[in-house]
Amino acid sequence: MAMPETRETKAPALKDDSQLQQKKMIAEHYRRLAHAGETGEKNVYTFVPGNLTELLRSFDLLPVLPEINALQSAMRGKSREYIAIAEKLGHSEDVCTYVKCDLGMMKSGNVGPTGEPLPKPDLLLLSYTGCFTFMKWFEILKQEYDCPVAMLHVPYQADGKITDQMRSYVVKQIREELIPTLSRLSGRAYDEDRLKELLRNSAQAEDDLVFVLESAKHRPSPIDAYFGGVYYIGPIFTAFRGTKDAVEYYRALRSEVEDRIQRGLGPVTPDGELKNERFRIVVEGPPNWTSFHAFWRMFADEGAVVVASSYTKVGGVYDDGFRHDPDHPIETLADYCMGCYTNLALPARVAMLAKYVKDYQADGLLVHSIKSCNSFSAGQLMILREVEERTGKPGGFIESDLVDPRYFSAANIKNRLESYFQMIEQKRTGGLS
Ligand code: SF4
Repeated sequence: MAMPETRETKAPALKDDSQLQQKKMIAEHYRRLAHAGETGEKNVYTFVPGNLTELLRSFDLLPVLPEINALQSAMRGKSREYIAIAEKLGHSEDVCTYVKCDLGMMKSGNVGPTGEPLPKPDLLLLSYTGCFTFMKWFEILKQEYDCPVAMLHVPYQADGKITDQMRSYVVKQIREELIPTLSRLSGRAYDEDRLKELLRNSAQAEDDLVFVLESAKHRPSPIDAYFGGVYYIGPIFTAFRGTKDAVEYYRALRSEVEDRIQRGLGPVTPDGELKNERFRIVVEGPPNWTSFHAFWRMFADEGAVVVASSYTKVGGVYDDGFRHDPDHPIETLADYCMGCYTNLALPARVAMLAKYVKDYQADGLLVHSIKSCNSFSAGQLMILREVEERTGKPGGFIESDLVDPRYFSAANIKNRLESYFQMIEQKRTGGLS
């Protein structure tokens, strides 16, 4: 990401090979997108949860993820201006700020995170996994770009399981509607062998990602599974799942984490290695992106490490054993879409978070609620109480926003976090029942 290196925006002190590798991958991807007009490469706008990256890449189509562009605009300090543009156009304060940030970016020349322009979408692929806003977002983009839309309807996991009927419903849509659409767009025939090869790469990278995320079970944890975690999920959650580059990135990342475990090192923070792990926390909800590093420091300064998070599961839940399966290429894509965290009902989310608190020997669950994410803020207080009850560990609750800096109140959040950590401390020493 091309960002000025201020105290707020600078990336973690670590400049490991994997991090440099990821930077190169991103730069190359956005370069290809910027030159798509000359090279004739086609692109598909699609969302992170339920993305069908391997299928798109099997047709040589380039994915563009609007949520990623929005969060990167926030990290570059652009989101305030973009949101203001969208609000002037009539989008209300309550609309998801990712949407407004994306629209403002589009109205300002559609310049992407590396400073190069993004192409117009050749197709909007809406894989519907749990958030109604996805649908409204692409309705707006369709009006703006007048481009085709393909919709994959993914049934919600209301009962916490995927039935054969649900799977066949998604498989039928992929085979009979999506594949012919992608074939027409790309001018290529469907190549199942190519798709299988990409899926094989995905499974390999997913193994390494799970190793990295689960390394947080060590004491001290060698990683931060939330603030550091967003860097680790990058390639698999976005445009690179299935590529050789992603396989190499995760192999390198895994070996760096293995090395940290061996040397007994704590995680890297914006100010270097964390040496005094005092609190182990599970976090529900996405991070704030406008003050990402300031937010991270509020944890690091207290010796708090996030050992597991639901956010690192929104683009796929892999630590429950799911892997893309090259032997059943279409079925596995269907299962992947239905299994994303965003597509899980509240009881499944509670069970997952309670399990994290236990498995990672955490001190409690902290909910970071997002003001403008109506889809996922509902139910979070219930989740908190339920996880507290099941684990006996205290819960905490803070609120801000994804990319709207007006809703990040640093003093308030810091205050609440400090109280939460104090409460954990008191509980440990028997000060609270
Ligand atoms: S899940 Fe929340 S943040 Fe994501 S698009 Fe939906 S409303 Fe916006």
